Amino acid sequence: MIEKYKAAIKNEDRVSEDIYEKRLSVCKECDRLNAGTCAACGCYVELRALSPVSKCPYHSW
Ligand code: SF4
Repeated sequence: MIEKYKAAIKNEDRVSEDIYEKRLSVCKECDRLNAGTCAACGCYVELRALSPVSKCPYHSW
């Protein structure tokens, strides 16, 4: 389901693949990550990390 939402986001509304992977790597090491969602904001990190206007609520990225 997340893949479907990701696929619907236009390229101009995405960060680069490099930035995206760096953001996800931070989330993967974070204690607040719970089954793909962020316990701080409730979002799916795979979607949040894709958006240029999104930020980690704890300023980790
Ligand atoms: S968005 Fe921030 S607080 Fe949430 S899981 Fe990722 S690094 Fe952790």
